[in-house]
Amino acid sequence: MSPSPFAASSFMIEGISALEIAQLYGTPCYVYSRAALTQSYQKFAAAFTTHPALICFAVKSNPNLAVLNLFARLGSGFDIVSGGELSRVLAAGGSAQKVVFSGVGKSRAEITQALLAGILCFNVESAAELDRINEIAGKLQMRAPVSLRVNPDVDAKTHPYIATGLKESKFGVAFNEAIALYQRAKTLKNLTIKGIDCHIGSQLTDIAPFLAATDRVLALVDALREHGIELSHIDLGGGLGIPYETHESAPPIEKYASAILEKMSGRKESLIFEPGRYLTGNAGFLLTQVEYLKEGQDRHFAIVNAAMNDLMRPALYSAWHDIIPAQTRDQPEKIWDIVGPVCESGDFLGRSRSLALMEGDLLVIRSAGAYGMSMSSNYNTRPRAAEVMIDGKNHHLIREREKINDLFSGEFCLPL
Ligand SMILES: *Cc1c(COP(=O)(O)O)cnc(C)c1O
Repeated sequence: MSPSPFAASSFMIEGISALEIAQLYGTPCYVYSRAALTQSYQKFAAAFTTHPALICFAVKSNPNLAVLNLFARLGSGFDIVSGGELSRVLAAGGSAQKVVFSGVGKSRAEITQALLAGILCFNVESAAELDRINEIAGKLQMRAPVSLRVNPDVDAKTHPYIATGLKESKFGVAFNEAIALYQRAKTLKNLTIKGIDCHIGSQLTDIAPFLAATDRVLALVDALREHGIELSHIDLGGGLGIPYETHESAPPIEKYASAILEKMSGRKESLIFEPGRYLTGNAGFLLTQVEYLKEGQDRHFAIVNAAMNDLMRPALYSAWHDIIPAQTRDQPEKIWDIVGPVCESGDFLGRSRSLALMEGDLLVIRSAGAYGMSMSSNYNTRPRAAEVMIDGKNHHLIREREKINDLFSGEFCLPL
């Protein structure tokens, strides 16, 4: 997980120290390692070389244009969940022919945009959506490529907010309704049935639920063939977890891949995967500086200049991120809650961390490359952080820190 050994008592990201990045770009600041992004993509791709497979990076995990462009250059496709994400992919040089479009609420405008762009496939999540896509494709005199996202009803054993494959979830179509829906799709003349799709959740640290879902999907593929419906691809979604804590383990990609490839042996359908977090999570860091140390009777607070609006995962999912000082301090450690300036008690980045801290110190929050910047907001009228990409000894600003005036430039007072 680590492109970042300690060197010369300062935390290094590739060839540059975190302290130098903070001095150059200010804090809070997201920093990504090009080498780590490249490595994770290549590792994923290498695990599937024996069967045709397309990696569609889940844009929502980190939509910065530089990140998308890097993946596009590596040959990646993209999994999008909005028309906005499609625009980003195209602006970053990604190919529409490698785009799959997921999501339960695709608007007419988004469907039109995706059809005109020529995407690879719509991952359709309801009967009503099937009708809508058919209707729009008809008006455009086009045929829309579709898969159904089926809900395999397996427990991903992850945080309930990021489990998507249970039958009570809003995602996908019920497993036992899938065949009837495919038959209906076949009668809709502006659709081309391409494949099948499932995505059971995020941050899965056990491969058993993936394999259970794959078995169910493959059984459905076979049943569909008996009904005269042939599929050309099988999209197994994303969701592969990463280690967030140094001592935590996540399934190695090779183990996940070999189990799936074994199930695919003798099959001719190609595979699609939609990894997000696996590709970006451990390639990103959030740098933040200690504003105040506030030692209370029961708890000690280190108030830092990043907050829940910058990194929402701890507040939203009680997620753990490793937090380490960028410099070494010759003083005893104390137990600190690392909290932000936002006016919410849920505004914490880490709790009960043993650290030696002084005011002004720089902290590195690890594993912040996925669902960090992408879930950030302007809550409390806080400008979003700068983003920087490290490439060996080079550093590149890939998104400017927002300016306060920009935050309300589209707002208007009532006339007098
Ligand atoms: C969020 C999402 C992904 C990516 O999930 P990760 O856990 O980041 O790999 C893939 N596919 C769909 C449909 C998603 O909603």
